[in-house]
Amino acid sequence: MLLTITTTHQPATDLGYLLHKNPARLQSLEITGGQAHIFYPEATPERCTAALLLDIDPVALVRSHRGPAGEGFALEQYVNDRPYVASSFLSAALVKAFNTAMNGTCKDRPELPEVLLPLEATVAVMPAASAEQLRRLFVPLGYEVETEAHLLDPTQPAWGNSRYFTLRLRHPALRVRDLLSHLYVLIPVLDRGDKHYWISREEADKLLRRGGEWLPRHPEREFITRRYLRFAEFVNPTLERLLADDSLDEETPETTLADFPADAVGTLAGASESPEVVAEASAPANGEVPVKQNLHDLRLDRVAEEIRRLGAKRVLDLGCGEGKLVRRLLKNGTIEHILALDVSWRELERAQQRLHVAEMPPRQRERLTLTQGSLLYHDARLAGYDAAAVVEVIEHLDESRLAAFEQVVFARARPGAVLVTTPNADYNQRYEALAAGEFRHHDHRFEWTRAQFAAWAAGVAARHGYRVRIESLGPEAPEVGAPSQLAVFEQ
Ligand code: SAH
Repeated sequence: MLLTITTTHQPATDLGYLLHKNPARLQSLEITGGQAHIFYPEATPERCTAALLLDIDPVALVRSHRGPAGEGFALEQYVNDRPYVASSFLSAALVKAFNTAMNGTCKDRPELPEVLLPLEATVAVMPAASAEQLRRLFVPLGYEVETEAHLLDPTQPAWGNSRYFTLRLRHPALRVRDLLSHLYVLIPVLDRGDKHYWISREEADKLLRRGGEWLPRHPEREFITRRYLRFAEFVNPTLERLLADDSLDEETPETTLADFPADAVGTLAGASESPEVVAEASAPANGEVPVKQNLHDLRLDRVAEEIRRLGAKRVLDLGCGEGKLVRRLLKNGTIEHILALDVSWRELERAQQRLHVAEMPPRQRERLTLTQGSLLYHDARLAGYDAAAVVEVIEHLDESRLAAFEQVVFARARPGAVLVTTPNADYNQRYEALAAGEFRHHDHRFEWTRAQFAAWAAGVAARHGYRVRIESLGPEAPEVGAPSQLAVFEQ
């Protein structure tokens, strides 16, 4: 397993001070399971690279009972990926080798740790479910991510790719300790084979220490926390409150939402895409502090209300995410059946948990079907519904695939009414955290102005025999309109 860190900051050899390791010397340390070697393949004033090479001995792992349990095949204890992949051994080695740097101290050059440097890191190899997963974890931290997939077996190309990638990260301006803390936390998150990574309560503290500055703003913070801590019973409640989505939406919007920049909140799927606290409800009569309502709740409430007005009995929630709309729809007694569909298995699992489907009384459970599917392919299960909600979904589809979406929903499924919401790009200039032309969420493929949305909606309605009206969602601002928009199509 090899990690290299390169900078072109001038003089590049400052990296040696930062890492507290002399570029001229090879150093070796004992770590659990083997040895770590630190050396510099290049060290010039223009460019300097430090390398951390782990030499893990799988047989020693077995002897120290830290190796794979051998549940897989007979020789798994001896023939396994531990020597080659980035795993918690690398995290442990980072702390041991670069402790001073990780703590942000530099005796000889105290100002250096705060300096933002152009940094590149290469990890060979990183286990991951997909290249997309690597992007999801590192792109929100500001890295340019390059991945190289490796075949499972170069002599058998038909077997396809393995779960191992060479990962290259580039950041234009970052503190060395940030890079180290990102790797320290995310490596064990990515390595599912790391079953013997022992979780103690101290791990929660470590995660807070190493991730405290950046994790609360990471869109995948909940996934990262759960995977880092592995077992729910060890999830420290404080940490959970700090990092879980829940603390960022319904329960306590007033304390957190406003603090997050628009592009930093929400999962990849956009499930809690709600940085925008938009309305202060008038002070309740009971004298409690007024509750700020976030934009996403406002959209969902509006759509649920519209479905109630339509008197729909059979309702589709297309791109249902974690089920925030479903929760509202279940409260509407007129609705007999809800089919909630999403392409993401992970979102569906979350929906299942958040809606407590397993504990629902049978009659309630029968009202709901949660199912996986894509809105880009015809799906006969979608026919025969009174209304369909498509809340904050279209902007996650490639614009070139919208014609397929249109066919699936408006030509084939043909619900009595279709409610589509999407951000209003005209409003984006109001978000200080968004640079011009930037989207509110990193998975958005486009964001439309009011004129663009209206033109698309009118075209769809005309082509498929629907009437359409468009409403704004959220408080109107002069010139730019409201933050979000809703199109109501009716047959
Ligand atoms: N409607 C939910 C979630 C919005 S986020 C809410 O308002 O809270 C967008 C959702 O669309 C994600 O859950 C994502 O997985 C889903 N999605 C993206 N592409 C999709 C596709 N092709 N088919 C179905 N769902 C899709």
